[in-house]
Amino acid sequence: MASVTIKGIEKRFGALQIIHGVDIEIKDQEFVVLVGPSGCGKSTLLRMIAGLEPISGGEILIGSRVINDVPPRDRDIAMVFQNYALYPHMTVFDNIGFSLKLRKKPKEEISTKIHEAAEILNLEPYLERSPRQLSGGQRQRVAMGRALVRDAQVFLFDEPLSNLDAKLRVVMRTEIKALHQRLKTTSVYVTHDQIEAMTMADRIVVMNKGRVEQVGTPMELYDYPTNLFVADFIGSPS
Ligand code: ADP
Ligand code: MG
Repeated sequence: MASVTIKGIEKRFGALQIIHGVDIEIKDQEFVVLVGPSGCGKSTLLRMIAGLEPISGGEILIGSRVINDVPPRDRDIAMVFQNYALYPHMTVFDNIGFSLKLRKKPKEEISTKIHEAAEILNLEPYLERSPRQLSGGQRQRVAMGRALVRDAQVFLFDEPLSNLDAKLRVVMRTEIKALHQRLKTTSVYVTHDQIEAMTMADRIVVMNKGRVEQVGTPMELYDYPTNLFVADFIGSPS
């Protein structure tokens, strides 16, 4: 079971405390959206779940396994970044397969995985191109392809659509949700866009200044915000 439990998580950068005792329970196959203003700690929290940033206190579990000391590549987690983080000098094919190559998987297996991911993401015609020759939407699909080949149970998305135009954002929201459902993954999706949160989330976590303000379904937050911050944030489209 790929539930994700975040227990009393703290983060300090030197003397500066960024995350203050955050608790979030994410159910297996749930799509949870983390929202909050810029600088409130969303990316830092995701990076701690992925193992890219050490935690200063608390525990993170996947299922019943504490993963605090598990290195990122053994975490069964894949992360999709805002800036895609593609390698410009590699083809789409090599970009998608890079993490498998690092793990020294057999060439045949890597190729099969890449083609499977490319088919799901409609990238087959572009496999020999370089990322430079792709549109923003296609680059985002390559970034998702890299996550897909990992066969991870948990997907983390850090503002994956913020570099796309409004029309494409709407299309990609639907694609990401479809992917989540098809792969039966557990997803944590960060955005600062209320509309994105309201339309995509099973549950929304509203963060502010390194703390959780409220957790609930989109309708719960909309109808029963427990404080002014949540009411303002959910109620006012950007
Ligand atoms: P968000 O993703 O919600 O915009 P971040 O998690 O990126 O917020 O950042 C939260 C806070 O932590 C910000 O004030 C940011 O400046 C600070 N921060 C992030 N990374 C570092 C770092 N490596 N060193 C010091 N401060 C950092
Ligand atoms: Mg961020």
